[in-house]
This record gives sequence, C-alpha cells and structure tokens, in this order.
Amino acid sequence: MHGVGISSGIAIGHAHLVSHALLEVAHYTVPADRIEAEVERFSQAVEKVRTDLETIRASLPPNAPPEMGAFINTHLMILSDRALSEIPKNIILAEQCNAEWALKQQMEALVAQFEEIEDEYLRERKHDVVQIVERVIKALLGHPGQPRVERQEQSLILVAHDLSPADAIQFKQHRFAAFITDVGGTTSHTAILARSLNVPCIVALHHARDLIQDGELLIIDGDHGVVIVNPDQDTLAEYRLRQEQWELEQQKLKRLKQTKAVTLDGTAIELHANIEIPEDVAHARAVGAGGIGLYRTEFLFMNRTDMPGEDEQFEAYRKVAEAMKGLPVTIRTLDIGADKQVDPNSLRTCTNPALGLRAIRLCLAEPQLFHTQIRAILRASHHGKVKILIPMLCNQSELRQTLHLIERARQSLRDEGTPFDPNVPVGGMIEIPAAALAADAFARNLDFLSIGTNDLIQYTLAIDRTDDAVAHLYQPLHPAVLQLVGMTIRAANRAGKPVSVCGEMAGDSQFTRLLLGLGLRQFSMHPAHILSIKREVLRTDITKVTRLVRRILSCPDVEKIEPLLAKLNA
Ligand code: PEP
Ligand code: MG
Repeated sequence: MHGVGISSGIAIGHAHLVSHALLEVAHYTVPADRIEAEVERFSQAVEKVRTDLETIRASLPPNAPPEMGAFINTHLMILSDRALSEIPKNIILAEQCNAEWALKQQMEALVAQFEEIEDEYLRERKHDVVQIVERVIKALLGHPGQPRVERQEQSLILVAHDLSPADAIQFKQHRFAAFITDVGGTTSHTAILARSLNVPCIVALHHARDLIQDGELLIIDGDHGVVIVNPDQDTLAEYRLRQEQWELEQQKLKRLKQTKAVTLDGTAIELHANIEIPEDVAHARAVGAGGIGLYRTEFLFMNRTDMPGEDEQFEAYRKVAEAMKGLPVTIRTLDIGADKQVDPNSLRTCTNPALGLRAIRLCLAEPQLFHTQIRAILRASHHGKVKILIPMLCNQSELRQTLHLIERARQSLRDEGTPFDPNVPVGGMIEIPAAALAADAFARNLDFLSIGTNDLIQYTLAIDRTDDAVAHLYQPLHPAVLQLVGMTIRAANRAGKPVSVCGEMAGDSQFTRLLLGLGLRQFSMHPAHILSIKREVLRTDITKVTRLVRRILSCPDVEKIEPLLAKLNA
C-alpha cells in the first residue's frame, strides 16, 4: 500500500487496529417516557469525555511535546461548543431517537460544513470533530475512554482511520513502533504529532483500516510511504537488514554532532534549523544546529480565536533568542494566507488563494498587525542575535514599504526608550520566480536572502504543493527551478550578501552536492535532517563537483538531469 510518508524510518510489527466506534452506531426510537433519561445519558457521556481529556492533560509527562497539551485543549473546546454538547439534545427530543444516532447526525452536518471550506488546513479540522464524536459515542456505548492495549510488545503498529492527539499521547506511552492512518495530509495534527514522536509514520493510505486485519504482520517504510502487508520471508529479511542499517546510521550520525561542517576542500558550511514553536529549539540544539535559519511564526497565530499581542509574541521570540545563546535566530514575519489560514471568519472566497493576499502582502494590507510583530521581534533582538526575514517578496515597491514600516517600528521603540539591537539584519525570502529573476536588486537592498524552494517550485511549475493529484509534477530538479535557484545564489554572492536555502530541498541529502556546486554555503532544514546533511557536506569536495553541476544546469530535461545527479552523488 502506498501513502504519504511523513516521518522516516523502518518498522516491522503486528497490526493493532484502533476500533471505529462510529461504525457501531445503531438507530432506534426512544419511548416518550424515557426521552429525558436519554438526554441525561448524553450529558453524562459528554461529561465523561471531558473528565477523561482533563485527566489525560493533567497526566502529560513533563517531556511531552507541548503541542499535545494544545491539541487536547482544542478538543476540549470543540467538546464544549454548543454544536456538539447541546444541539444533539434537541435532536434527541425532536426525533425521539437514541443519543448516539442524534450525535452522529449532528456530526455529519458539521463535517459537511467543514467540507465546504476551501482552505485545506481548516478543512482538515473536521477530523478533530469526528475524533471527539467518536469518544462521546464510545462513552455512550460503554467502551472504556482509554484505548485498551493488551499487547505491550514494542513491535505493534497502530493502524487507524485517523488518530486524535489525545489518543496519540496514550499510544506514545504504549510505545508503538509506527503509526499508519487512512486520512491526514502533511499538515494534519497526526502528521505534526508523529514527527514529534519520532517513529515512522504514513498517512493518506485511504483503506488501510479496512484492508488490514488485527495481528497481521506489517512492514512500514516511512521514507518511501510504503506499507507491506504479510511480507514473504525474503522481503522480511531484506527489510530487517534495512532496518538494522537505518538504526546503525542514526547512531553513527549522532557522533557528528560536534563535528564542524567543512567540505573536503576546506569550505565551512552553515547548517541551521527550521522551527515552528519555541520548544523546537531543544531539538535544534540537540543536533548542534548553528542557528535558527527559519522560525515560522505563523504557528503562534493558529488554533486560537484571538491574535497574540505584542507581549505574548515578544515572550515567544525572546525565549528562542535566549535559548540559542548568541547563535543567529532568523524570525520570519507572518506567512498566513493560502493554505495557512488563521481565522475561519476572515476567510475570503478567492479562486487562487496561493496567488492571493498571503504573507507580506497581507501584512502590508494590515500594517497594524505587522507593526505589532516587528516591535515584538525588535524587542527580542535585545536578548539574542535576531534577524528578520520577510516572506513572499515580489517587487521593490513591496520591499520599500516593508523597510519603511520596519523603520517606523524602530522609531516607536526609540521614542519610548525600549532597548533593541539597532543593527538587526533584514532579509527576504526568494520564493516567487519574479523575485529570483530580480535577485540582484533584492540582494542590493536587503542584508541577506533565503530561498524558499517549497514555494519557488510551486510557483515556477504552477503545481499546488498541497495537491496529491499533481505531486508527481512537483519537480525540484526541473531545469527552470535550478536556473532560478542558481541565479539567486549568484546574485547574493555578487552583492556579498549571505544566502541560504530554507525549503525542503535543503534537508534532502540528494540535493546537497548540487546546492554546494551552485555556490550555496548556508542550509536551513528540519532539525531531524541536520546530521545527514552534515555527513554529505563532509564527503564533498566542491572543486570536484563544480563541472558536473555546470552540466546539470545547462541540461534542459529532468530525465537527463536525474542520471547526472546520480553521478554527482556517487
Ligand atoms: C518555502 O516556501 O520553501 C518555505 C520555506 O516557506 P514555507 O514552507 O513556510 O512556505
Ligand atoms: Mg514559503
């Protein structure tokens, strides 16, 4: 079976199917004299789930990823909403039906509303509603609130239609070897959690829960998004070997933590980490990141109904700046819009959200929002080595307006005597082809550049990065993409300004030599990739790869580039 691998590694173990309470819902009429009792049964089930969730939240181990607490809070909020805790009671009364049926009806109505939402991130939140409803139905049916796991072996593989974060924390205590689910995109809560649990995980398998039987032997290859059900002896032996090799590799990689990232010809390379929340700094430091190359601040604005104020933002940025102890921290200003919406009420209907009011465009349209964030970042610069990074710049006039607003924020701090670093560098992301083509001007007018290849590929090739149907056309090696990356690096080098790549390409070791050959000296990536990229850097002699990289750059066809890349990496 093929899905989307979202957390790497290989696991071999027996399937543990998570029960699907929604499939067990019956429909029956409740006699008039028992209707009040049915409503009461419903209320008690909601209360039971609330107590269960609060118990789970209180028993989170101190080292649990902080997003787990946040997810449980979200589920508690959903549970308390009238739509789930009150309206089903009206349905029971109006239709004289059992509580499970009423709740399921209401859930289907809510899910239908979510499905209308264009934004992928918000649309995925329907799974949170389903997960909460499942819990209430289990409580109504008398199932235990906690998942029952009899087998305690390490080698159990959790197979679920979807997983709630509250379930995941319990499953973590049972030490599952891998997670696979039918639904969930790469931005789903399951994906975010699985990465933080550090076990292989595959989502979007569509029918795994129906096709796999409890206890069947499974191989999970998180790197390739492959699940093998009931493998034969040869396949099993091969994957056991691969698994051992993978684990050995991880152990060996750990030894590189203190090693300086220097190529064979003596060129020093900077390897920085991408983070989403302040708590990610611990992982960045554990792998010896040389700094934070991309702090995606929009996550501070998500999963909440209000906006974080200046002080709250300042605290978050200061925490990161202090924790990095003088190493650079590149804070990217808000990149919301397109697939990352914050407030469902602010959703505008537009045909092409990725081409709409996103990132710096939105900030320039909402200068007060931007002013608040810039003041918070500047205040944090007093506590560490902070840099400001502007996403989605497209033309010089946007850049002028942005710099003007940053200056205004600086002035407001000066006027009130609030301390900040007056030399905070301001950089720009090159992620729109027009910006790459105009990289000389951006390099002249900014302190540094950072190439966002995720969006640069999307916009160059007109491929929606969130759309499964065109994923095969999302080609980092497309000659047009390589040209734009190459010309941006050259423009920055000509202007004597630092340039990095902070998109997924930077964390993929098959592109390390190519990027080094293109002149890149700074990479920023998910902390989990830093050591494998360092290993690639240590193995590379830049003087020896330049000729082949030039050949790759002059090649007009991806299919011809692939074998050249293989040769480069050999
Ligand atoms: C990118 O576009 O490459 C990037 C790093 O930004 P994001 O993935 O947050 O859009
Ligand atoms: Mg981007």
